Amino acid sequence: MKLSLCALQLDAAASRGRRYPELPHPYRDEFQRDRDRIVHARAFRRLEDKTQVFPPALSDHFRNRLTHTIEVAQIARTAAAALDLNQELTEALALAHDIGHPPFAHAGEEELNRQMQRYGGRFDHNLHALRIVEHFEQRYARFPGLNLTFEVREGIVKHSRDLAPGEFPELDEYLPGLRPPLEAQLIDLADEIAYNTADLDDAFSAGLFTAAEAAAAVPYFGRILEEVDTQFPGAAERIRFLEALRLLIDLLVGGLIEGTYAAATGAGVSSVDQVRAYPRRLAVFTPDAAATASALKGFLHRRVYCSEPLQQERSRVTAQLAELFEFFIRDPGQLPEPYRQQAAAEEPPRVVCDYIAGMTDGFFRRTYERIFGHGR
Ligand code: MG
Repeated sequence: MKLSLCALQLDAAASRGRRYPELPHPYRDEFQRDRDRIVHARAFRRLEDKTQVFPPALSDHFRNRLTHTIEVAQIARTAAAALDLNQELTEALALAHDIGHPPFAHAGEEELNRQMQRYGGRFDHNLHALRIVEHFEQRYARFPGLNLTFEVREGIVKHSRDLAPGEFPELDEYLPGLRPPLEAQLIDLADEIAYNTADLDDAFSAGLFTAAEAAAAVPYFGRILEEVDTQFPGAAERIRFLEALRLLIDLLVGGLIEGTYAAATGAGVSSVDQVRAYPRRLAVFTPDAAATASALKGFLHRRVYCSEPLQQERSRVTAQLAELFEFFIRDPGQLPEPYRQQAAAEEPPRVVCDYIAGMTDGFFRRTYERIFGHGR
């Protein structure tokens, strides 16, 4: 299948460049360099010990945020290649898309946001990712952060939502009111495909539902599971489930490629600037794939995210995160350097939030136990 949108590809040579100008590299273009900088960042390596959905204590085989990121990158890159978009930019954005995630998945993000709201602030993992690549990563003698290209920073800011003019004055340079290029638009749906199908897989392994229950809730999955059962009647239930899951990923990725091609050609856009100025995002699913994605999401909400084991884990980590946050607010002198100095100069809630957001699950647990002792 070749559905070329090559006129809408963001070419590295057309990049708006870096905050601090650098000489070109002899054999890597600017987006390849950005991808490599992200892979070498400490925040990227920390993704290994951050929960995706399932706490690792239950099994060695669940996704963590690093393996999830790799799955998003391969899906996004496949879609970009099929559409003749810029694969290097897409890959860099996919690898960076969760770099600002705090420990303990969405429970961690929600609790940090709740804590910050008490002080009139907020926590948003996309904005935190921008602070990481702009300030917290310190690897270069000539500039702070990773000095990424404008397009990669813009994609980090806008990966899951557009930016309205005036919404965040500190982000005014990232073209509020305009859509990001198609490469960045692909990430949100590639992320959705990756986590919906992976969560279905991990939750099935964890025994949260049967294949028949998933089939009843997601009609397309039911049909392919029936076909797989007819084709491989002797195969084990788990193998048949995985065969059907592969076809489900194919439907969703194919639906993203075809839906995006149809939307972009239907909109009559013929340049990156026209993609930016178009009133809606053009990376979309076909109606069939959208219906399946939404049925799948509903099923996962009911049977997985709201399930007893995950709810229990969520309340436990939420309470611990609130305790640790309050502890450092009461006594910022307990923060390690350079956060302690920073807390003296800046607002302590923001500094405490940055410190906790950067923690892995393991580092959070060790810090919590050191301060409050075991057995809480
Ligand atoms: Mg993600």
